[in-house]
Amino acid sequence: MVLSFLRSDVVQLAAYQPHPGAAGEAEPQIIDPLDTNECPYDLPAELKEKLAWTVQHTIAANRYPDGGHADLKASIAAYVAESAPGILAQHISVGNGSDELIRSLLIATCVGGEGSVLVANPTFSMYAILARTLGIPVVAVGRDEETFAVDLDAAQQAIDQPAGLPVRVVFMVHPNSPTGNALTEAELAWLKQLPEDILVVVDEAYFEFSQHTTAAEVRQRPNWVVLRTFSKAFRLAAFRVGYAVANPDLTAALEKVRLPYNLPSATQAAAALALAHRQDLLAVIPEIQAQRDWLSTAMASQTPLHPWPSAANFIYARPAAPQRPMEDDLAHWFQHLKAQGTLIRHTGGGLRITIGSPAENQRTLGHIIQVSP
Ligand SMILES: *Cc1c(COP(=O)(O)O)cnc(C)c1O
Repeated sequence: MVLSFLRSDVVQLAAYQPHPGAAGEAEPQIIDPLDTNECPYDLPAELKEKLAWTVQHTIAANRYPDGGHADLKASIAAYVAESAPGILAQHISVGNGSDELIRSLLIATCVGGEGSVLVANPTFSMYAILARTLGIPVVAVGRDEETFAVDLDAAQQAIDQPAGLPVRVVFMVHPNSPTGNALTEAELAWLKQLPEDILVVVDEAYFEFSQHTTAAEVRQRPNWVVLRTFSKAFRLAAFRVGYAVANPDLTAALEKVRLPYNLPSATQAAAALALAHRQDLLAVIPEIQAQRDWLSTAMASQTPLHPWPSAANFIYARPAAPQRPMEDDLAHWFQHLKAQGTLIRHTGGGLRITIGSPAENQRTLGHIIQVSP
């Protein structure tokens, strides 16, 4: 039934599917969830116990959470400043996942017919999804077929000669999902020369894997914001914490548009604990990077899939010699890997495979070899 009071553009939207195609017919014994780019490891048992203790003894369930996040912002700033000197608590705003911050940025910039957003596809789908829920037009440009570098001429043209509302926000992922490439010098130079009435959002969800950040830019540039998350390297996807690093005037705007108690108390405690133990938690990053490089080399030499280089904790790949139209071939690979228990994403014209534990990665390789093209 169409509810006649709904906005017509909302009626057209489909709800976000966390694991598209995941529900299966015959379920294999072991399911490796390699479709959402999480860290393969749960928090260590001691940290979980500490967190449980904190919830038990320091959180009053009947009281609202700290809505100002002062302590958490200070801890996040200290962490960010390790790679971007000079970042302080005033440069930080926290969200219920970085998805909330994406929405807050859209509310603060484009809602009400004030502007459109620019993305370079394939990229993270939430920018366009959240923009559409707010009635904000999305302008999409393409990428180089081989390197996935952004088509900067098309992007500049979209800004100089907008077909509709002016571009107010440019979203870039560094490194990009699903393709794994980091921003190049040329792309960074292009972003830096954009006029100050365009907000540049650099989503560094995979920073801990790539080790390259643009966060220091926010000290010179009022129109630059870096988004990070605790959902990937910090192993807290279940708790929903993200943060923005930006000029204090922009973080003040984000504070105005967010919900007052956006982060539950247990979530704030989890983020503080993860930051305090970051050396232990991030100690597995070299293993994941080495596993990524091992799997990529093995795929290239032992399977029909062609992997692209990746600066993140996933690999983007396509069949080197597709046996049917590319999208059908990708669906074939997705289905046959799923049937064996390896759950990956078929997205952005390719397959995105999260790096798991060594045992999971061994199974991924074995299952790819089992698929007959
Ligand atoms: C995973 C991911 C996020 C994280 O979103 P959360 O809402 O913090 O879980 C943000 N951006 C990109 C590009 C991602 O891949």
